[in-house]
Amino acid sequence: MDVSHLLDDLNPAQREAVSAPPGHYLVLAGAGSGKTRVLTHRIAWLNEVLGVPTHGILSVTFTNKAAGEMRHRIDLQLRNGSRGMWIGTFHGIAHRLLRLHFTEARLPDGFQVLDSDDQLRLVKRVVQGLELDEGKFPPKQIAWWINEQKDEGRRPQHIQPEPNDDWLEVRRRCYAAYQERCDRAGLVDFAELLLRAHELLRDTPALLSHYRARFGQILVDEFQDTNAIQYAFVRVLAGDTGQVFVVGDDDQAIYGWRGAKVENVQRFLKDFPGAQTIRLEQNYRSTANILGAANAVIAHNPDRIGKQLWTDSGDGEAIDLYAAYNEMDEARYMVERARQWVRDGGSYSDVAVLYRSNAQSRAMEEALLAEQVPYRVYGGMRFFERAEIKDTLAYLRLLTNRADDAAFERAVNTPARGIGDRTLDEVRRTARAQQLSLWEAAMLCTQSSALAARARNALASFITLVGQLNAAVGELELKDKIDHVLVHSGLREFYEKESKGQLDSRTDNLDELVSVASRFVRSDDEEAAAGMSELVAFLSYASLEAGEGQAQAGEEGVQLMTLHSAKGLEFPLVFLVGLEDGLFPSARSVDEPGKLEEERRLAYVGITRARQKLVLCYAESRRIHGSDNYNVPSRFLREIPKDLLNEVRPKVQVSRPAQLGATRSYGQAAVEVPALKLGTNVSHPKFGGGVVIDYEGSGAHARVQVQFDEAGAKWLVLAYANLSPQ
Ligand code: ATP
Ligand code: MG
Repeated sequence: MDVSHLLDDLNPAQREAVSAPPGHYLVLAGAGSGKTRVLTHRIAWLNEVLGVPTHGILSVTFTNKAAGEMRHRIDLQLRNGSRGMWIGTFHGIAHRLLRLHFTEARLPDGFQVLDSDDQLRLVKRVVQGLELDEGKFPPKQIAWWINEQKDEGRRPQHIQPEPNDDWLEVRRRCYAAYQERCDRAGLVDFAELLLRAHELLRDTPALLSHYRARFGQILVDEFQDTNAIQYAFVRVLAGDTGQVFVVGDDDQAIYGWRGAKVENVQRFLKDFPGAQTIRLEQNYRSTANILGAANAVIAHNPDRIGKQLWTDSGDGEAIDLYAAYNEMDEARYMVERARQWVRDGGSYSDVAVLYRSNAQSRAMEEALLAEQVPYRVYGGMRFFERAEIKDTLAYLRLLTNRADDAAFERAVNTPARGIGDRTLDEVRRTARAQQLSLWEAAMLCTQSSALAARARNALASFITLVGQLNAAVGELELKDKIDHVLVHSGLREFYEKESKGQLDSRTDNLDELVSVASRFVRSDDEEAAAGMSELVAFLSYASLEAGEGQAQAGEEGVQLMTLHSAKGLEFPLVFLVGLEDGLFPSARSVDEPGKLEEERRLAYVGITRARQKLVLCYAESRRIHGSDNYNVPSRFLREIPKDLLNEVRPKVQVSRPAQLGATRSYGQAAVEVPALKLGTNVSHPKFGGGVVIDYEGSGAHARVQVQFDEAGAKWLVLAYANLSPQ
């Protein structure tokens, strides 16, 4: 058999990994060295050369999109395609197992996945139900803590009470009560998917031996970001016979804040007997300048496993560094450069803008809109997280499972139908007291003397409505089901009224939901589809999608995303914006041990997304939550060797009139800024008193240097500095 096509476009180290004899392997290598490529080729090799049937292979990717991409590549490589292979995220695979074996997992048929927003609402209800003070015991923190416990594999009974730690006890009680409600309502949150799938395998010997016999080969991409329960899942599934092939880079571990454990990389070598490490050292993605910057930055982290990374692709252009006056200037510069890129023959989809936090996308979007440059934002409010979409889905969820309390809460009074808070409190109280779902409690309450006749009638008509919807949609196609629900629930009319005259029309989103549904194709994998109605499959898809903000290379337009969601991707032109201490690295990371290192790895991830050209930006002043911040350039910038950087100076005319005045040209209104003479004593809201010692530029670009009594000398943009003469 000719298998040369599987090795042709690989270097010797990559070949060694792809064609390694059966066993456990860790491919440990830096960014852009071909880890993902190796993993995909390994799958093909296992099948074509080692004769492993496709259904014997389980491959884990970090996002659903990456899974789609991998499946596509494998379909191209293998004669018989990827059919039967399980390729997906840990969450996707866990979800599939739970669907297939819902009875063993003690879940109802048609259980629903709870996204993080709904989870928070439910935790809030639990906190209220336990009559706790929300101010003292913030539901958000409790939800976060519950997820943390689940990520570590802990159930409420595993949590040891600690004397004098009441807060722990409160959280434990909330966890227990929350879990009970989820179980009763047939709801599974994201962390629960993993935990329950792990328990399912661990505690059901027949299933475990079935899947161990089936999946003799397990592969995991981005292994450095697996958490404890994911690691445990791989271990239990592999048992003594499964062979595990993982690829990762300890320098790209960026999800520690969410429970990922980079220690799993070292642990793998201990836990899996005979595991061997294979290193890849050649980077195929970036120019030498870009790689040089990445290597220099990450070298500042202590305790690295340590890797070499080189490229023979040539130096390429220098890395541009732009000092913007503020976030609007930064955005304007980005747009100008992106347009230049397109004028030079590139395409907007080559361009990515990466930032530390979602809030930064706003200024970028405004600038792109103003210049009519096409773009897409990832990781912000995603389609399936929008209120109007979730409202619609809530009705559908209620149709598939009346016990779904989260869906009940959403649907019951949206649009308003006269079911007020008092009525709902009575329903909730009844549910708690009698251990019922909200739906069952609502039925009881229609007879309850505790409610006024009007309230009872309103509840009764909601119950009738759901019954009618159910009867009507039975045989309809998925998209018609949704359409019917939209019309007869009153949601469409409600949103039509609400969005009148608005640009971001919610009704457009509702139409989009119907067309998403019409395009929705269930996995053609019969096994995966077993026992799942099309509607349930669609709802699960919506919840799992909602949890992911991942972009995909090659989409139309400039792509805006957080550094976290750029993981694994690459783009010809990358802007890394907001490189200021306090923003990136984030203010909090500076004092917490280990956090600064994680931020630095994030910088490493960001830099290494660029193939040809990298542009770094920081702003001297930045408006955050309504107030101006003056941050110093990020320490990561100082870690990049000067000779790799090309400092782009703003085009200011340096003139030295005796007096400076400036007009704010950004923002809504033009505001005259008071003129300042050299030597004027000034005061600044943050830096205190000082004296003007130098200036450059004029108009909106005028900058002054002030020698502050305490903060030292600083350059400030006059229009923003808020200096008052003393
Ligand atoms: P990351 O750490 O960012 O996930 P990675 O190690 O997974 O990166 P890949 O995405 O697999 O790296 O590869 C980076 C780029 O290099 C891709 O465009 C890939 O096609 C290319 N590449 C990898 N190996 C080779 C090779 N031997 N010859 C040519 N191109 C290669
Ligand atoms: Mg990769």
